[in-house]
Amino acid sequence: MSAQELEVDGATVRLTNPGKVLYPESGTTKLDVAMYYLQVAPVLLPWAKNRPATRKRWVDGVGTEACPGKSFFQKNLDAATPEWVQRQRVHHMDHDNIYPLVNDARTLVWLAQTATLEIHVPQWKLASDGVPQNPDRLVLDLDPGEGTGLSECAAVALLVRVALAQIGFDSLPVTSGSKGMHVYARLDGQKTSGEAADLAHELALSIEHDHPEMVVSRMGKELRRGKVFIDWSQNWPGKTTVAPYSLRGRMLPTVAVPRSWDEIDQVGLGQLAYREVLARVEAGINPGL
Ligand code: ATP
Ligand code: MN
Repeated sequence: MSAQELEVDGATVRLTNPGKVLYPESGTTKLDVAMYYLQVAPVLLPWAKNRPATRKRWVDGVGTEACPGKSFFQKNLDAATPEWVQRQRVHHMDHDNIYPLVNDARTLVWLAQTATLEIHVPQWKLASDGVPQNPDRLVLDLDPGEGTGLSECAAVALLVRVALAQIGFDSLPVTSGSKGMHVYARLDGQKTSGEAADLAHELALSIEHDHPEMVVSRMGKELRRGKVFIDWSQNWPGKTTVAPYSLRGRMLPTVAVPRSWDEIDQVGLGQLAYREVLARVEAGINPGL
């Protein structure tokens, strides 16, 4: 067993088993994951800061199509968590959880150390005293139904963009790194999560009304065939969405990536792999809201 020490923000973070392969198909190692997260820290942290983070971990890697690796969602911190990982207690209906806050680069390296590939966050932040704030963004999650894919999601995303613009919101598309897309808009903090979900629901209904052959706003899987499901319920306070610039635990190391509307409008739109994302970030390409 080997280990590598990484210098991050003047602190030393220890990475055990840096050569451990987490994505067998591409040979991507734990060190690659740590270096990816370190390099995207400046663009990822603003999306994740002060939000209670749910981690999705693949301790033995993502495996192969024939033999996928086991994964699990983890909310609560465990005793082995370094004391420098910022954290906050969140009160749920019948229990409390202590969540990590992805607030600095070394926490991103710790995530890689614990084989956390995916970082999931809600659309609201915690204030410094731990009180949940109203959401500061709205998300519409576009899921391709059977027989559709990313290009249908892109067409629907352009409709979402227009619908949001009509009520005065700029928006940002994010390819999810999995099958579909997310579209974000900035909120001013006046709406509760419930009100944000209501607004997203109204948008989904109105787009469905105008384009019933392309769009569905209800949850039922059987309704989705040949259509894109606009999931507005991701705005509920207990829901999370994968953080932009998070890796995905797919067979290949794809990423949830903010895109320009011009890219969404082009033929051949695809999900991006982490190396492509590193090249974009290095070139200063970081579409934002
Ligand atoms: P895709 O583009 O394939 O739909 P996605 O990340 O949008 O990828 P969804 O299944 O649409 O995946 O789920 C949306 C979000 O809901 C996820 O990003 C994740 O944050 C959250 N989520 C989904 N399933 C769970 C779960 N079992 N536990 C916790 N969060 C979940
Ligand atoms: Mn989705």
